Amino acid sequence: MIFLRRLLILLSLLCCRLVVAEPLQVTASFSVLADVAREIGGERVLVHEIVHSNQDMHVYRITPQDLRQVRSSKLVLLNGQGFEPAEFVRSIQAAKVPFVEAVQGINLMDNHDEHEHEHNDKHEHSHGDKDPHVWQDPVLMQKYAENIANALISVDAASSDYYKKRLADYQKQLKELDAWATKEIATIPLAKRKVLTAHDAFGYLGEHYQIRFIAPQGVSEDSEPSAKQVANIIRQIKQENIRAVFIENINNPRLVRQLSRETGVDISGKLYSDALPENSSYISMMKHNISELVKAMKQ
Ligand SMILES: [Zn+2]
Repeated sequence: MIFLRRLLILLSLLCCRLVVAEPLQVTASFSVLADVAREIGGERVLVHEIVHSNQDMHVYRITPQDLRQVRSSKLVLLNGQGFEPAEFVRSIQAAKVPFVEAVQGINLMDNHDEHEHEHNDKHEHSHGDKDPHVWQDPVLMQKYAENIANALISVDAASSDYYKKRLADYQKQLKELDAWATKEIATIPLAKRKVLTAHDAFGYLGEHYQIRFIAPQGVSEDSEPSAKQVANIIRQIKQENIRAVFIENINNPRLVRQLSRETGVDISGKLYSDALPENSSYISMMKHNISELVKAMKQ
C-alpha cells in the first residue's frame, strides 16, 4: 500500500515535470513596463524588473546583480527614447541579450523645454528631444502593449496565440480605462484644467485629455530651476489661479512644497509619474492619478 502510494507520487512528479514548461525569463527596465509584460506574459513568463515601484529611473545606476539577472534572461524590455540613462542602455547592450524598446513605432511628442531627461551627463543623453513618458496616455499604451507582445513572440513563437489572446484582453482594459478617464475629465471645464507637478512627466496625459501641466523641473531630475524661474512659476500660479498642485512619488517634494508655501495653495496630493505605487498595476496607477487630478481641478 505504502509502496503503491509512493509509486503514484513519483509518477505524478514525473508527469508534472514533463508537462509544465519553465517560464520564459524576461527582464524589464522599470515597474510600468514589467506590469504590462506580466499582463501579457501570464503564467508563461517570469518578469524581473530593474527599477522598482516608487524608484526613480533618472538617477538609477545599474548594479552587477541587475546584470546577472539580465544575462540569465531571454529578452530585455526597455522603454527607450532616453528614458533609461545612456549608461544603463550601454550595459544592457554589452550583455548581448536581445532587447526591445517598447516605444518603437509610436509617434513621440517633442520635449517642450530644453531639459534633458538624463541626470548625470549632459553631453551623452541619447533621447534627442523626444518625450519618453508614453505610458501616461492609455491610447498610446495599446501600441506599447502590442510591442511587448511582439517582443515576447520573437523569443517564444510557440506561445504566439497565447500572448495575442492576452494582448487583446489587455487592450480592451486599456480602452475601458480611456473611456472612463475621458468621462471623468469631461466634468472639468477646459479653463480649469491646469496642474502643477514637479517634473515634466505628464505631457502625453495633458495632450490626450487637454490638461495643461506646468513643471518647474522639466523632464530632468537635477535641473534645479533658478530663483528667477521659481519667481516666474509663483507668478503663474497666482495669475492663473492654479489650484491643483501635486508632489510625485519618485522625487523630492521640496520644490513643490516651497511653491505651495509661497503661493498659499495647498498641495492636492501625490501623483505617480515614472514608477508604480507599491503592489499596484499600471491601470490602478492611472485610475489613482486621474481621480486625484479631477478632484483637485474641481476646486
Ligand atoms: Zn521622467
